[in-house]
Amino acid sequence: MNSKHLFGIIFLLFLISGCSSPTNKENAEKTISNPLYRPVNDLIAFSKLTPENIMEAAENAKLDAEKILEELRNENDISYNSIMHRYDEALKIIYTVSTPTELIFETHPDSAIREAAKNASELLKNYEYQIDADDKIYQKIKQFSQSEEYQSLSPDRKQFVDEVLLNYVNSGMDLSKEKQQFVKSLRSKIHNVGVNFLKNISSSPNKLVITDKDTVGIPQDFLAQNKKSDGTYEFDMSYPTYSTIMKFAKPEIRKKYFTLFKNRGYPENMELLDSLLYYRQTLASILGYKTYADYKLTERMAPSPEKVWDFENDLKEKFDAKANEDYQELLELKKSLGECGDKIEEYEVSRLLYILNRQKYSIDHEKVKKYFPLDNVINGIFKMTQTLFGLNYEEVKNPDVWHPDVRMFKCYDTETGKLIGVFYLDFFPRKNKYSHAACFSIYPGQIQENGLDIAQAALVCNFPKPTEDKPSLMKHSDVETFFHEFGHLVHSMVAKSRVFYLSGIDRVKLDFVEAPSQIYENWAYEKDVLKIFAKHYQTGESLSDEIIEKLIAAKNVYSGLAGLKQVFYGSYDMYLHNKYLPYQGETTDDVTRNLYPITKFDLTEDTHFQCNFGHLVGYGAGYYGYMWSKVFAQDMWSKFEEEGAMNKALGMKYRKLILEPGAQGDPYKAVTEFLGREPNSNALLKSMGVKQVEN
Ligand SMILES: [Zn+2]
Repeated sequence: MNSKHLFGIIFLLFLISGCSSPTNKENAEKTISNPLYRPVNDLIAFSKLTPENIMEAAENAKLDAEKILEELRNENDISYNSIMHRYDEALKIIYTVSTPTELIFETHPDSAIREAAKNASELLKNYEYQIDADDKIYQKIKQFSQSEEYQSLSPDRKQFVDEVLLNYVNSGMDLSKEKQQFVKSLRSKIHNVGVNFLKNISSSPNKLVITDKDTVGIPQDFLAQNKKSDGTYEFDMSYPTYSTIMKFAKPEIRKKYFTLFKNRGYPENMELLDSLLYYRQTLASILGYKTYADYKLTERMAPSPEKVWDFENDLKEKFDAKANEDYQELLELKKSLGECGDKIEEYEVSRLLYILNRQKYSIDHEKVKKYFPLDNVINGIFKMTQTLFGLNYEEVKNPDVWHPDVRMFKCYDTETGKLIGVFYLDFFPRKNKYSHAACFSIYPGQIQENGLDIAQAALVCNFPKPTEDKPSLMKHSDVETFFHEFGHLVHSMVAKSRVFYLSGIDRVKLDFVEAPSQIYENWAYEKDVLKIFAKHYQTGESLSDEIIEKLIAAKNVYSGLAGLKQVFYGSYDMYLHNKYLPYQGETTDDVTRNLYPITKFDLTEDTHFQCNFGHLVGYGAGYYGYMWSKVFAQDMWSKFEEEGAMNKALGMKYRKLILEPGAQGDPYKAVTEFLGREPNSNALLKSMGVKQVEN
């Protein structure tokens, strides 16, 4: 490790001295020979990546961006072109390299390359922090914002200036040097506390150990996997284990496991959470905001914490009746199983739902899988999105990619025939690969005077790998995940802006960015769409209407209680960042006790769920966003329900108004224009099976 660092430093010195007075020609040649730091519109030659050229790309990007920023700092002619355009160009250079390093780090099979990608990403992130704290740059941009030219800017450019300025203000640039130093130290404390909080969850030592007498109900093969040499069984705190134990184990074992699971990170995270909230609140106060939520919401679609509270309270009321029905349904099932009690405990829910789904809907998911071979699903979603959104995909043969499993496609606009993007599909699990599903940006589409810089993105998922005698067969929930992620992908293919800063989807407001993917989940339940591709992999027979109807009906089992759980999480997160005062008497346990009734369940005694509520770190004052964006997703979907799920004119309208602007403009206005009226939550409620009372 040491020698690697030393090598890095020597290498860095060489680069700096080697680049002290580069000519443009030298620069261009070096750029072209590097597979990562490449000319715009060139694709990354993944096969040519080496740890060395990844670091070289990051170093060179930093040097080239710095040259532009140095000109900006020394510029006396204050104009959009001399200040803002330069700032945009510098960011473009950085993101050209830093954005794909995230993908490479999460997917590349070579550990040395992953390590280099991580280092390159950190180097550029640190450089970005420097830019965010650069007073000379800030002053120039501020000066520009006071000019006449600023007043007459087009909306996209004005938004760009405003967002960059807000970012500087929120970084504390208007404060005294002393306070700026304090802000810096607070941010680093917040970062460190967050890292430790998450580490305490993922490395929780909690485990359940049982002996033979307590194994009743647990499947034999699962027991065998977890058997220790001394004859006992040991269960870790991973999600697959959670799901199996909570479905099959006997009640006392489930309760024991549930308690351990809900106490991951306890007790150490109790104190860490209070310090996290304290530092965040202190940071917000110094920056001039009443609370951390007020501060964070300056960057979101939701206008104020009050509006978020109204939103949560409104949903709570509207979900109530359906949640009561759900509760009764589980209670009756419990009675029918001969179990006593007039209450449902939370550790009983997974098992009851499992039984309910089998009894009421008798969906055999193993059988349904046979109708969803991956290639059919890909063809289906391709056909659907190409038809609806005027796109055309073409597979690239023998692509230059990071693993033989990865496929590559070109994305054309049907109307103009022009290439607008390139995307990669990396679908099968392998060692050291990102283990969830996500759409990674590589490069955003940017409008240029003479055309378009093409968008580049990758979908990374983990679907079952085909075997010699069987194709990859997907569960319907996998199909839903694929549809969701493909929504992000299409969004990133068509979103475009003249301003690099606003190009692509990475700066779409956090509480709206899920809407264009949440809406896709609806198509995964649409009969006309399923008929296109849900065909038995051996017989070619279509999935029957009966099964499709069962899938649709089963979707709303428990939807009221699940909705209330989301309201609880959203309210809890908002309370901690908007009302809670650490070290003033109230504890986070008190908050849990006070808000838990929203869920309609009793809080399981001696549990501290907040110690493993990891989203508090990543989404501080942002958890509400999941339901917030879903309201818009479902409302927009209601248009497709009215006018046809495969209505091309509507699809194109959706592409133009909602997808193409990307991070530009006000999403609320865009949705209103798309709907032809103000958005509301009726469609969300309908999609959850909530009966609504007419006003
Ligand atoms: Zn998503």
